[in-house]
Amino acid sequence: MTKKYLCRALLSTFFIFNVVQGAVATSTPSLTTKEFRAFDENGEMIRTGRGAVGKIGVVSTGKYEASKIGMDILKKGGNAIDAAVAAGFALGVSEPNSSGLGGGGFMLIRIAKTGETIFVDFRERAPKNATSNMWKVNEKGDVIGNEKKEGGKAAGIPGEVAGLIYALENYGTMSREQVIRPSVKLAKEGFIVTPTLSADMKNKYDLMIKYPEFGKVFLTEEGFAYEIGEKFTNKDMTKVLELIIKEGKEGFYKGDVAKSIVNSLNKYGGVFTMEDLANYKPKIKKPIIGNYRGYEIISSPAPSSGGAIVIQILNILENFNVGKLKVNSPEYLHLFSEAYKLAYADRAKYMGDTDYTPVPLKGLTSKKYAKDLSKKIDMKKSKKSVSHDPWIYESEDTTHYSIADKEGNMVSITKTVNGLFGNGIVADGYGFVLNNEMDDFVVGGNHPNSVEPGKSPLSSMSPTIVLKDGKPFMLLGSPGATKIISTVSQVISKVIDHKMGMQEAIDEPRLFDNTSNKINVESRISDKTIEKLKKMGHEVTKTTEWDRGMGSVQGVLYKKDGTLEGGADPRRDGKAIGI
Ligand code: GLU
Repeated sequence: MTKKYLCRALLSTFFIFNVVQGAVATSTPSLTTKEFRAFDENGEMIRTGRGAVGKIGVVSTGKYEASKIGMDILKKGGNAIDAAVAAGFALGVSEPNSSGLGGGGFMLIRIAKTGETIFVDFRERAPKNATSNMWKVNEKGDVIGNEKKEGGKAAGIPGEVAGLIYALENYGTMSREQVIRPSVKLAKEGFIVTPTLSADMKNKYDLMIKYPEFGKVFLTEEGFAYEIGEKFTNKDMTKVLELIIKEGKEGFYKGDVAKSIVNSLNKYGGVFTMEDLANYKPKIKKPIIGNYRGYEIISSPAPSSGGAIVIQILNILENFNVGKLKVNSPEYLHLFSEAYKLAYADRAKYMGDTDYTPVPLKGLTSKKYAKDLSKKIDMKKSKKSVSHDPWIYESEDTTHYSIADKEGNMVSITKTVNGLFGNGIVADGYGFVLNNEMDDFVVGGNHPNSVEPGKSPLSSMSPTIVLKDGKPFMLLGSPGATKIISTVSQVISKVIDHKMGMQEAIDEPRLFDNTSNKINVESRISDKTIEKLKKMGHEVTKTTEWDRGMGSVQGVLYKKDGTLEGGADPRRDGKAIGI
């Protein structure tokens, strides 16, 4: 690998510190030492200070800049949806590694006045000319090269702009000018590059060289990867944001931006037409609903597997006295690991976009089925691999954010470009990357999750709202590909079964297991615990102390004293702000 960026990696701590301090003096909504510091003078991430309490409302996103923009909208009298749309555009600017205009996602809204919940599906969809054999495969059936992950054939039709504008027009109160203008300013004036962003930019350095339109936007003028503490601006992106302010959704899906998307993707092997973009509309759906120990769990329906599998896992856990187990004890980790194995096996086998393929959703979320499954769990011994899981290779770069107010308006959004910086193709002249969501389809035909024109690939994204006796209790979600499901279910259980606060539940070490009988645990789990798990038959891998692959939960908890506790994940750049 060419490591040109390494030449500059020796920035003195003095320099970094001064850049951080320098940002305080400007009015740019970037890193401030007063409210939040994401990293210290050595460029090390600071894992504290992420949560916040609010009396009126909380905005908790994956980036301080976006939380601040969302909060400013609330302070100016906007509602939770206005704030969510503003923060959504701001995340596209400040966290381009994870989500943005070229991606898609899911938004779960609760309207306090009516108690109604609405699910906006703005996931990417396969273009009209996509087919289940569009990627060349070898004799083993594996895709040759990287076509499923990078370049034009990896992209689905982006849905984010349509989704955010739909939410604003139908549930917001403010104008596009009011909610998008702060993001234009952010793109123009820039923000400070954090350790997370700098690492991701370096990770994609080779791709930035391979696709010059990508490098033009995301490398420095001298052609280096950005270092921690430097300021990143994106002037090209202001152009597309201005067009969306002026023309709404049409400014993106028709005209020059659409032409640029089609040309940029097709230049690198894509099969896109202008109609693919012009015809994109978000789908409005009913969320999937389950319950856990008397709490109502409202989450994502297909094309996500997330809601159904989170509910299935919680249904299995309900057959055990989880509250009696010590959090992250061997027995606790064992139980979650066994429940995950059972649920993830069903996910891999049965799930796909229900608009195209039948999925046994009632069965998957039935209490009786979960009870039968729970009988298969031996609390002393781990089960061998349940079946092969083709999903373990999914990428892990997405963002989740939660906005809530004291009236009980709640917006829980997970959005993504799928892999780090999506497929590496930037819509030339407009500064945003396109997604590589097609990678979430299986290769070949005859599977519930095979490619079909217009179909969405299966997702794990699980924006969730939890109610108690019909009243707001919590909202949360996470990135992390298939680990989204395990992470969201762990955090829900920690709050309900162990009465943890939002930040505490987010901070606790996590585990992940799927169908392979290999537990991954964050290395804050003790060696003694790991030894006991091994004795039960588990293969255990310690990852890092704060493993960003285990997700990044942004959530809000309604406390008994009437305040709202926002939690944000120190595994990445999350920051909650309260008012
Ligand atoms: N593409 C994945 C999904 O939709 C999300 C990737 C991630 O969470 O990082 O489930």
